[in-house]
This record gives sequence, C-alpha cells and structure tokens, in this order.
Amino acid sequence: MKYISTRGGGKPQEFCDILLGGLAPDGGLYLPESYPQVADRLDEWRGLSYAELAFEILSLYITDIPAADLKAICDKTYTTETYRWSRDAAKARDIVPLTTLEPDFHLLELSNGPTLAFKDMAMQLLGNLFEYVLDRRNETINILGATSGDTGSAAEYAMRGKHNVRVFMLSPEGKMSAFQRAQMYSLQDANIFNIAVRGMFDDAQDIVKAVSNDAGFKAKYKIGAVNSINWARVAAQIVYYFKGWFEATTSNDQKVAFCVPSGNFGNICAGHIARMMGLPIAQLVLATNENDVLDEFFRTGIYRPRATAETYVTSSPSMDISKASNFERFVFDLVGRDPAIVRQLWREVDGGGSFNLAEGPFATRLPDYGFVSGSSSHADRLATIRDVWQRHGLMIDTHTADGVKVAREHRVAGLPMIVLETAQVVKFAETIREALGRDPVRPKELDGIENLPQKVEVVDAALDQVKDIIVRHC
Ligand SMILES: *Cc1c(COP(=O)(O)O)cnc(C)c1O
Repeated sequence: MKYISTRGGGKPQEFCDILLGGLAPDGGLYLPESYPQVADRLDEWRGLSYAELAFEILSLYITDIPAADLKAICDKTYTTETYRWSRDAAKARDIVPLTTLEPDFHLLELSNGPTLAFKDMAMQLLGNLFEYVLDRRNETINILGATSGDTGSAAEYAMRGKHNVRVFMLSPEGKMSAFQRAQMYSLQDANIFNIAVRGMFDDAQDIVKAVSNDAGFKAKYKIGAVNSINWARVAAQIVYYFKGWFEATTSNDQKVAFCVPSGNFGNICAGHIARMMGLPIAQLVLATNENDVLDEFFRTGIYRPRATAETYVTSSPSMDISKASNFERFVFDLVGRDPAIVRQLWREVDGGGSFNLAEGPFATRLPDYGFVSGSSSHADRLATIRDVWQRHGLMIDTHTADGVKVAREHRVAGLPMIVLETAQVVKFAETIREALGRDPVRPKELDGIENLPQKVEVVDAALDQVKDIIVRHC
C-alpha cells in the first residue's frame, strides 16, 4: 500500500516513510491510494480478539513491515494490562467493551487506556511503531508538542521508556486540572520532559510552531510531532469501528450507526474509512459542542473555520477546536479524490476564508457518505449526564454526553446506535460535581496521584528558553 497527498504533490510513499512525519511537503494530508474492500472477510473476522483484528486490518495498510513483526507489535499494544480501566472489570478483555444502555443504544468504551481517553487507542500503537522503525533505521526523534490536556499525556504514556525517542511537551502553567497535571508531571521516565510555560495554550503552541519553522534547528535536533493528522493514528482508530460493530450485531448484513464526539475529525474520519472499506455503517453521527464548525458543514455545506477569538472554552475541552485538521481527508474523498479541487478549496481556508459545497456537484454526493450532525451546550451536557445517571446508574464524561445527546436526536427505529465513549469521568470531575452533586468514581490505582512527586521545568513563554531545554537534554 502506498500513500498519496490530498493536494496531489510528490511521489506515493511507503507507510514507514510517512510514519514519523506530519503534513505532506505540499501541505496536504496522506491517505492510502485506495481503500481495501473487506465486506467478504467479516465472517472470518467475527470472534477475533482485538489484537488479532488490529493485525488483520492494519496489515492491509502497513505493507512495509514484515507480517510477523506487525503481529508482534499489535499483540504487545492491545493488552488487558494496558487497557484495564473498564467500568466493568469482567469485560476488560474486550479492550473496547460495549455497554448497552437500552435496546439498540450502546456505549463503546474507548477510554480504558493509561490516560483514560480514546487517544490511547492509537497513541499506544504509535509508540510501539516508532520504537520499531527508529531501531531498524538507527535513528532518533525528539517529539515536540503543546497540549492543554489529553493529547500530550497520551503521547507521553505511549513514548515513555521507548528507545531513541524523547518527548518535550509544553503545557500552559496552571491551566490544566490537578488530575491532568499529575498524570503528566508525575512521569519520571528519563526520556519524558514536561515544560510548563508561563502563559496560555496558544503561547505554548506558538513556540512549537516557531521551532518547527526553524529548519536548521529542526534538522539538527531531529524534531518531530505526533499530532492528530498522523496517518498511523487514523489507521489504528479504524479497528474499533469493526470491533464495535461485531459486538453490537450478530449477522453480517446488519447495519449500525456510530455517534462520535468530534473536534479535529480524526476519530470520525476513521469511521468514514471503515465504511468505505465495506463495514455496514448506515449512519455516522457527528457531535460537536458549542464549537460547531463541523456541525455547520454537515447541516449547510459551508466549512468556515473560526478565529481563535471565536473559539469557546467549554466543559468538553478536547473538542474546543476552531478548524478540524483531519477534515481535508474526507473532502478529498467527497470531491472524487481530485487534488486540484482540494487545493482550490484550501486556498480559501488557509487564507482565512471558507468554502460552500451546498451548490454545485458535491451537494448531491454528500448524503451518500451517511453523515448527520448536531451540537450541544453546557446545559445539554449537564442534563444528559444527569439523565444517564438517573436512568442507567452510569456516569459519563462531558464529551460522551455531547455524543449521547446528539445520538438521541438521530435515532432510527431498528438501527443500533453506538456512541463512542471518548473519556472517563475522573478527568472532568468539576462538571460531574456540577451535574450530580458528587465526585466521579476514580479507578483505585489512581488514588492519590496528585501527591506523587512531579518532574516539570517552568519557563517563560520564550522560544530561547524552550530551545535551551531541548539542547541541554539531547
Ligand atoms: C480528542 C478528543 C475528542 C475529539 O476527537 P477528534 O479526533 O479530534 O475529533 C473527543 N473527546 C475526547 C475526550 C478527546 O480527547
């Protein structure tokens, strides 16, 4: 399998060659040249363990790693030891257990990994792939990133202790919850460097951009990233759509709907690809919070990224995005994989504008892809968390609540609805207390995590101070 850019530049690449990079050199995103068709393999795959299924699916996309090695990487990644935080310990061996709220309405638990959010599903695989490829090539990488919570901690837990990888993760000093800080800063691994920046998330992000724009420094210190546009992350996420579908159906002609709490369009993009591969998905329900860029597109055909000043801080913070960095992948498919059209559309977007597909040839094609959407507010989240608690005795986090709210609006009789549970309640305790007047349930092993010794260097929002830290530790 070879990979091409959504903007049409460059020659097709092998998987391992795009694994360590980000955007394609022409500014586009990588996608496989074609989607393998697997409808006739579903019978054979039903009943496989998560690791076995991951190997079957990923081996269609990763053809430049020997099968035995890829199998070992999947087996090492998807273990009950790593994904052990299920609310029902008896179901932990499923890796992504399905919880049925009522007939034909389910939650798929994707947040049982070490940082209690769905990002672990892909990031843990990425950690093992990085180590494998870097070892084989005798190369090193220094991952530099900025985080306001979930992504940074998932990256650190995936890369901790790995050979040839260091992680330098910037976070805004004092802006994350005590639990999130403890999760990241308590890691004592020699290859993990937490850097707290006196400033906001945007200041940290600006420093990362400035380092990346310094080509000399970037090359000399082998700076890399693991952001949400990384193809391997999307590929890893395809697997749980198959697993969820197997768990919710008994025969191979049964269709389902998935509802996905969305921000950067990474998670639901994997659902779109699963559907393109022949998984019987009737509906992909996209849920946003008040930051409704994507809901607006699927309702109106207009894609209008927002300015930072127009991006709201909400109680489902991992969905607070102003533009959806993976959306270009879907649009590439929608416009018939014509890179000239993608280039033209993103010329508008990258220049701060918008595009409208409501008129013209693509409006009639959009319904073929099965997307519907909706958004929710803080009040909706509180009401949904309360309702699920009262009716089912289950606590759900704020992002999952956005999903449940929008999923209910799109239910079709006889069509099983699977809501992706993207985080655990303990990460968003404040809103749980506001909704339910009590503390969230916390996995026992994490009791007192806030009291562990922390390893973090505090710096001003100054490029030189961050570069200094990198230079000192390389
Ligand atoms: C990242 C994240 C999302 C959004 O996922 P995208 O892939 O960016 O659409 C939703 N919920 C949680 C808890 C997350 O961490």
